[in-house]
Amino acid sequence: MQTITLVADLHVHTLSSGHAYSTMAEIIAVAAQKGLAAVAFTDHGPAMPGGPHRYHFGNQVVLPAKENNVEILRGVEANIIDREGAIDLPAEYLRRLDLVWAGLHTPCLQPASRSLNTETLLNVLENPFVDGIVHPGNPDFPIDFETVVRAAVDKGKLLEINNSSFVTIARRGSKAGCQEIARLIQHYGALTAINSDAHIAHDVGNCSLALEIAREAGIKPAQVVNSDLQILKDFLRKRGKKRFLRL
Ligand SMILES: [Zn+2]
Ligand SMILES: [Zn+2]
Repeated sequence: MQTITLVADLHVHTLSSGHAYSTMAEIIAVAAQKGLAAVAFTDHGPAMPGGPHRYHFGNQVVLPAKENNVEILRGVEANIIDREGAIDLPAEYLRRLDLVWAGLHTPCLQPASRSLNTETLLNVLENPFVDGIVHPGNPDFPIDFETVVRAAVDKGKLLEINNSSFVTIARRGSKAGCQEIARLIQHYGALTAINSDAHIAHDVGNCSLALEIAREAGIKPAQVVNSDLQILKDFLRKRGKKRFLRL
């Protein structure tokens, strides 16, 4: 069995999220110190209470592509805001970003039945700018795991295994769902990213609990886009990200 190791953290929040506590510079310093090759800044979209204005995302063009030997990805953790799968940034912003996560959060959309939540995620996966779904194992939003995993495979999109789901007060009771999703990811050969969802710099790259779930499920390193910088860049190129098409 090949062991999964991580070279990037693709889900990190800065001060701009409103309930996170570190600057980009502090996060890059920790990423460099931990030997990460890349980090994605994925602050919450504007619909999250306390979240940044949409200009925050548009202006990420000023970020350097690389600092302190860490590749910097400009991203967002967009909020799903209706059952049709709309998210809280318009296309002209999304197309400029390197990584677009979408997620269900109770301040932005109330949970519904399993079938309605599932339909919502299927609609979100239809959005051409969305690269993946964060924390799909959240028990607050029950979904039909198999349907969502198969749709993600079909679209070549990511289903995240989120380390914070096992350590923070949000999304309590995520473990069983995440184990089931990990099993289905392995079974269907889906793509995943294993991320910290850090809300403070020292948590960047802390993914040990999520890694354990991926390993237990027998997920292969080739399925984990942040296990290798080349796999990550190939994924972003395939997703049509302008910056990586040039490389
Ligand atoms: Zn989230
Ligand atoms: Zn997050």
